[in-house]
Amino acid sequence: MAGGTTDHGERITDNAFLAGIEMAGLIFWDVDTQYDFMRADGKLYVPDAERIIPNLAQLTGAAHQHGIRVVASADDHVPGHRELSDAPDFKETFPPHCMRGTAGQRKIPETALTGPLVIEPEPLPAVELTKRVRRHDGDILFHKHWFDVFTNPNVEPVVRELDPERIVLYGVALDVCDKYAIEGLLQRRPHTQLYVVTDAMKPIDAKQAERLLGQWQQRGAELVTTTDAIALARRRAESAPAQPG
Ligand SMILES: [Zn+2]
Repeated sequence: MAGGTTDHGERITDNAFLAGIEMAGLIFWDVDTQYDFMRADGKLYVPDAERIIPNLAQLTGAAHQHGIRVVASADDHVPGHRELSDAPDFKETFPPHCMRGTAGQRKIPETALTGPLVIEPEPLPAVELTKRVRRHDGDILFHKHWFDVFTNPNVEPVVRELDPERIVLYGVALDVCDKYAIEGLLQRRPHTQLYVVTDAMKPIDAKQAERLLGQWQQRGAELVTTTDAIALARRRAESAPAQPG
Protein backbone atom coordinates (compact mmCIF):
# COMPACT_ATOMS: atom_id res chain seq x y z
CA MET A 1 0.00 0.00 0.00
CA ALA A 2 3.03 2.31 -0.02
CA GLY A 3 2.15 5.57 -1.73
CA GLY A 4 -1.57 4.70 -1.78
CA THR A 5 -4.43 6.74 -0.41
CA THR A 6 -6.48 6.24 2.73
CA ASP A 7 -10.26 5.99 2.85
CA HIS A 8 -10.29 9.73 3.41
CA GLY A 9 -8.22 10.42 0.32
CA GLU A 10 -5.08 11.74 2.02
CA ARG A 11 -1.89 10.59 0.41
CA ILE A 12 0.35 8.37 2.55
CA THR A 13 3.88 9.69 2.14
CA ASP A 14 5.37 9.22 5.59
CA ASN A 15 7.92 6.43 5.06
CA ALA A 16 8.81 6.19 8.74
CA PHE A 17 5.18 5.52 9.52
CA LEU A 18 4.97 2.89 6.80
CA ALA A 19 8.19 1.29 8.03
CA GLY A 20 6.64 1.02 11.47
CA ILE A 21 3.63 -0.75 10.02
CA GLU A 22 5.76 -3.21 8.07
CA MET A 23 7.93 -3.88 11.12
CA ALA A 24 4.87 -4.54 13.21
CA GLY A 25 3.64 -7.15 10.76
CA LEU A 26 6.09 -9.90 11.67
CA ILE A 27 7.67 -10.75 15.00
CA PHE A 28 9.89 -13.58 16.16
CA TRP A 29 8.88 -15.20 19.47
CA ASP A 30 11.69 -16.91 21.41
CA VAL A 31 10.55 -19.17 24.26
CA ASP A 32 12.87 -19.67 27.25
CA THR A 33 16.20 -20.20 25.47
CA GLN A 34 17.97 -19.94 28.82
CA TYR A 35 21.14 -21.64 29.98
CA ASP A 36 19.42 -24.03 32.43
CA PHE A 37 17.22 -25.45 29.64
CA MET A 38 19.65 -25.21 26.73
CA ARG A 39 22.97 -26.48 28.06
CA ALA A 40 23.68 -30.08 29.09
CA ASP A 41 25.02 -28.94 32.46
CA GLY A 42 22.00 -26.68 33.07
CA LYS A 43 19.61 -27.29 35.98
CA LEU A 44 16.78 -28.55 33.77
CA TYR A 45 18.32 -29.55 30.45
CA VAL A 46 15.79 -30.26 27.72
CA PRO A 47 17.11 -33.41 25.98
CA ASP A 48 19.13 -32.59 22.85
CA ALA A 49 18.48 -28.84 23.18
CA GLU A 50 22.14 -28.14 22.44
CA ARG A 51 21.58 -29.47 18.91
CA ILE A 52 19.18 -26.65 18.02
CA ILE A 53 21.51 -23.85 19.19
CA PRO A 54 22.91 -23.25 15.66
CA ASN A 55 19.35 -22.81 14.35
CA LEU A 56 18.45 -20.51 17.24
CA ALA A 57 21.54 -18.42 16.49
CA GLN A 58 20.53 -18.18 12.81
CA LEU A 59 16.96 -17.15 13.66
CA THR A 60 18.13 -14.50 16.14
CA GLY A 61 20.72 -13.20 13.66
CA ALA A 62 18.17 -13.02 10.83
CA ALA A 63 15.67 -11.14 12.99
CA HIS A 64 18.27 -8.58 14.03
CA GLN A 65 19.71 -8.27 10.53
CA HIS A 66 16.29 -7.63 9.00
CA GLY A 67 14.96 -5.31 11.71
CA ILE A 68 12.40 -7.77 13.03
CA ARG A 69 11.46 -7.47 16.65
CA VAL A 70 12.21 -10.48 18.88
CA VAL A 71 9.71 -11.03 21.68
CA ALA A 72 11.19 -13.48 24.18
CA SER A 73 10.07 -15.08 27.40
CA ALA A 74 12.27 -16.17 30.30
CA ASP A 75 11.61 -18.01 33.54
CA ASP A 76 12.72 -15.91 36.49
CA HIS A 77 12.24 -17.97 39.64
CA VAL A 78 12.65 -17.40 43.34
CA PRO A 79 12.19 -20.13 45.96
CA GLY A 80 8.52 -20.90 46.62
CA HIS A 81 7.24 -20.59 43.03
CA ARG A 82 4.53 -23.20 42.49
CA GLU A 83 6.26 -25.13 39.65
CA LEU A 84 9.38 -25.74 41.75
CA SER A 85 9.73 -28.87 43.87
CA ASP A 86 12.49 -30.93 45.43
CA ALA A 87 10.37 -34.01 44.58
CA PRO A 88 9.24 -33.01 41.08
CA ASP A 89 6.86 -35.04 38.89
CA PHE A 90 8.25 -33.40 35.67
CA LYS A 91 4.68 -32.62 34.60
CA GLU A 92 3.36 -29.97 36.96
CA THR A 93 6.52 -29.55 39.02
CA PHE A 94 10.22 -29.37 38.20
CA PRO A 95 13.45 -29.11 40.14
CA PRO A 96 14.65 -25.56 40.87
CA HIS A 97 15.85 -23.90 37.63
CA CYS A 98 16.35 -20.41 36.15
CA MET A 99 16.73 -18.94 39.62
CA ARG A 100 16.89 -15.14 39.61
CA GLY A 101 20.43 -13.77 39.49
CA THR A 102 22.10 -17.07 38.52
CA ALA A 103 24.02 -17.78 35.32
CA GLY A 104 21.48 -20.52 34.54
CA GLN A 105 18.68 -17.96 34.33
CA ARG A 106 20.40 -15.99 31.55
CA LYS A 107 19.58 -16.43 27.90
CA ILE A 108 22.32 -18.22 25.99
CA PRO A 109 24.56 -15.78 24.07
CA GLU A 110 23.32 -17.18 20.74
CA THR A 111 19.83 -15.79 21.42
CA ALA A 112 20.90 -12.59 23.16
CA LEU A 113 18.45 -9.73 22.72
CA THR A 114 19.35 -6.20 21.67
CA GLY A 115 18.59 -3.66 24.41
CA PRO A 116 15.38 -5.44 25.41
CA LEU A 117 12.46 -3.80 27.15
CA VAL A 118 12.02 -6.14 30.15
CA ILE A 119 8.43 -6.61 31.27
CA GLU A 120 7.95 -8.15 34.72
CA PRO A 121 4.81 -10.06 35.75
CA GLU A 122 3.61 -7.35 38.15
CA PRO A 123 0.51 -5.89 36.49
CA LEU A 124 0.98 -2.45 34.91
CA PRO A 125 -1.79 -0.13 33.76
CA ALA A 126 -2.55 -0.67 30.07
CA VAL A 127 -1.83 3.00 29.31
CA GLU A 128 1.65 2.74 30.84
CA LEU A 129 2.41 -0.48 28.94
CA THR A 130 1.27 0.98 25.66
CA LYS A 131 3.46 4.03 26.22
CA ARG A 132 6.53 1.88 26.99
CA VAL A 133 6.02 -0.36 23.96
CA ARG A 134 5.47 2.59 21.60
CA ARG A 135 8.62 4.31 22.84
CA HIS A 136 10.70 1.14 22.35
CA ASP A 137 11.06 -0.29 18.85
CA GLY A 138 13.50 -3.12 19.74
CA ASP A 139 13.28 -6.49 21.44
CA ILE A 140 10.98 -7.28 24.35
CA LEU A 141 11.61 -9.75 27.18
CA PHE A 142 8.75 -11.07 29.30
CA HIS A 143 9.76 -12.49 32.67
CA LYS A 144 7.49 -15.17 34.08
CA HIS A 145 7.06 -17.18 37.28
CA TRP A 146 5.15 -20.14 35.79
CA PHE A 147 5.27 -22.12 32.52
CA ASP A 148 2.57 -20.15 30.80
CA VAL A 149 3.84 -16.79 29.52
CA PHE A 150 0.26 -15.48 29.69
CA THR A 151 0.41 -15.74 33.51
CA ASN A 152 2.40 -12.51 33.12
CA PRO A 153 -0.71 -10.30 32.92
CA ASN A 154 1.16 -7.71 30.84
CA VAL A 155 1.70 -10.09 27.91
CA GLU A 156 -1.81 -9.87 26.54
CA PRO A 157 -1.99 -6.04 26.39
CA VAL A 158 1.52 -5.82 24.92
CA VAL A 159 0.70 -8.33 22.17
CA ARG A 160 -2.51 -6.43 21.49
CA GLU A 161 -0.44 -3.26 21.08
CA LEU A 162 2.12 -4.98 18.81
CA ASP A 163 -0.77 -6.50 16.87
CA PRO A 164 1.42 -8.77 14.70
CA GLU A 165 0.05 -10.32 11.51
CA ARG A 166 2.56 -13.16 11.71
CA ILE A 167 4.49 -14.74 14.58
CA VAL A 168 7.45 -17.07 14.09
CA LEU A 169 7.81 -19.11 17.31
CA TYR A 170 10.66 -21.33 18.55
CA GLY A 171 12.49 -22.38 21.72
CA VAL A 172 11.96 -24.85 24.55
CA ALA A 173 10.37 -26.97 25.72
CA LEU A 174 7.98 -27.99 22.96
CA ASP A 175 5.60 -29.83 25.30
CA VAL A 176 5.68 -27.35 28.18
CA CYS A 177 6.37 -23.64 27.67
CA ASP A 178 6.13 -23.67 23.85
CA LYS A 179 2.80 -25.45 24.25
CA TYR A 180 1.39 -22.77 26.56
CA ALA A 181 2.64 -19.96 24.32
CA ILE A 182 1.36 -21.57 21.09
CA GLU A 183 -2.03 -22.59 22.45
CA GLY A 184 -2.38 -19.21 24.19
CA LEU A 185 -1.66 -17.37 20.94
CA LEU A 186 -3.94 -19.63 18.85
CA GLN A 187 -6.76 -19.00 21.31
CA ARG A 188 -6.27 -15.25 21.69
CA ARG A 189 -5.21 -14.37 18.14
CA PRO A 190 -6.89 -16.74 15.66
CA HIS A 191 -6.36 -14.05 12.97
CA THR A 192 -2.55 -14.02 13.43
CA GLN A 193 -0.65 -16.55 11.30
CA LEU A 194 1.54 -18.57 13.63
CA TYR A 195 4.65 -20.32 12.28
CA VAL A 196 6.08 -23.06 14.50
CA VAL A 197 9.77 -23.67 13.76
CA THR A 198 10.01 -27.41 14.32
CA ASP A 199 13.80 -27.72 13.97
CA ALA A 200 14.35 -24.97 16.54
CA MET A 201 12.38 -26.66 19.34
CA LYS A 202 12.92 -29.70 21.58
CA PRO A 203 10.47 -31.50 23.88
CA ILE A 204 11.02 -32.82 27.39
CA ASP A 205 8.78 -35.82 26.58
CA ALA A 206 9.50 -36.80 22.97
CA LYS A 207 6.36 -38.98 22.82
CA GLN A 208 4.20 -35.84 23.05
CA ALA A 209 5.83 -33.92 20.22
CA GLU A 210 4.19 -35.43 17.12
CA ARG A 211 0.72 -35.34 18.63
CA LEU A 212 1.05 -31.72 19.72
CA LEU A 213 2.47 -30.58 16.37
CA GLY A 214 -0.46 -32.27 14.60
CA GLN A 215 -2.98 -30.57 16.91
CA TRP A 216 -1.45 -27.13 16.35
CA GLN A 217 -1.42 -27.64 12.61
CA GLN A 218 -5.11 -28.56 12.71
CA ARG A 219 -5.78 -25.35 14.59
CA GLY A 220 -4.12 -23.27 11.86
CA ALA A 221 -0.45 -23.08 12.84
CA GLU A 222 2.01 -23.66 10.03
CA LEU A 223 4.95 -25.99 10.70
CA VAL A 224 8.14 -24.57 9.19
CA THR A 225 11.90 -25.05 9.28
CA THR A 226 14.55 -22.54 10.31
CA THR A 227 15.35 -22.02 6.61
CA ASP A 228 11.68 -21.20 5.89
CA ALA A 229 11.53 -18.77 8.81
CA ILE A 230 14.67 -16.95 7.67
CA ALA A 231 13.28 -16.72 4.13
CA LEU A 232 10.12 -15.18 5.58
CA ALA A 233 12.18 -12.61 7.50
CA ARG A 234 14.12 -11.73 4.36
CA ARG A 235 10.99 -11.44 2.24
CA ARG A 236 9.38 -9.24 4.87
CA ALA A 237 12.44 -6.99 4.98
CA GLU A 238 12.53 -6.71 1.18
CA SER A 239 8.87 -5.71 1.04
CA ALA A 240 9.40 -3.02 3.70
CA PRO A 241 10.90 0.38 2.88
CA ALA A 242 14.66 0.63 3.52
CA GLN A 243 15.52 1.05 7.19
CA PRO A 244 17.94 3.76 8.22
CA GLY A 245 21.37 2.38 9.07
ZN1 LIG B 1 10.22 -22.54 35.33
